Amino acid sequence: MSQKDKKIEKLARLAADGENTIVYAVNLDFLSNEEIEGYEEKRILLFLGYRSETTCSKCIKGSCTVPVKRVEYPDGHKMAVYICPDPDHGGRFEIELDKLRYWKINIEVLKEMRYLTEAKKTSAKRKKKKVKESEKKFQPWLKSGDACFILKNSRIFFHFKTDDKDLNLAHSSRAYKLLYLFTAKNPLPQREIKELCTDNTRPSDIVKATNETLNKKIAAFELSDIPKDIAFVKFDVESRYYGLHPKIKYSEAEEM
Ligand SMILES: [Zn+2]
Repeated sequence: MSQKDKKIEKLARLAADGENTIVYAVNLDFLSNEEIEGYEEKRILLFLGYRSETTCSKCIKGSCTVPVKRVEYPDGHKMAVYICPDPDHGGRFEIELDKLRYWKINIEVLKEMRYLTEAKKTSAKRKKKKVKESEKKFQPWLKSGDACFILKNSRIFFHFKTDDKDLNLAHSSRAYKLLYLFTAKNPLPQREIKELCTDNTRPSDIVKATNETLNKKIAAFELSDIPKDIAFVKFDVESRYYGLHPKIKYSEAEEM
C-alpha cells in the first residue's frame, strides 16, 4: 500500500471509528497543507469553515474550551485570539486561523473508492447514535466550588463541601482504574484508556460504565445539591482527550 493510500485509509478509519465524520485540524496533523488541499479538491474532505471556539493547550488544569475571536493586523495577517481564564497559566493567546479549520469526511466518496465498506458505515452510524443518546443522558459537571475526587490510602473518595464519602470502588473495577489514570494526567488521551480495554470493550464503554457507577454511588450518599446524571468523564471531540470533572487529587496521606 502506498503512503498516500495509507493516509486515505487513516481518514476512512477516523470516519468509521470516530463519534462522527467531522474532523478538526488537530485530527489531521498527519497531513500536510498540500495534501489537505488535494483531498478537498477530490471532495474526500469537505471544508466546513473555522471553529468559533477552541480547546486551549496552554493551561494544564484540564481541557478548557474557550471562544475565539478573529483579528486582522495592519499588515493583513489574520490570526485567532482567545483568553484562557486559568489563574496561573492563562491569559491572551494567539493561534493560526488554519488550526481552527474543520471538515466533514465524505463517506460516500470513500465508499466509491472502496476505502470504506457498507458495514463500516453502519457501525459508524450506530456509534453516532449511541453517543448522541449518552450525551443526552449525561450532563457536564458545571458546579463551581468545593468538589473533587480524592485518592487516599488507595481508596477513592468523593469530596463535596464538608463531606468526604468513600466511593467503595473495588481496585479491579473499571471506575477505579480509570479514575486512577486521571491522577497522573487530566485530560487523558484516548489511547491511554485503550490500555484498560479488552478485545470487546472500547474507551467509550469504560467511560460510560464509570459515569454510571459514579452517578449511582454519589446519588446513594443523598448529598443535597448534587445534580443527577453527570458526565464526570467527558470526551472532547476536537482534542480526542477525555477529561475528568471535578478533578481527582491525592490526599497528603497518599504521598507519604
Ligand atoms: Zn486554558
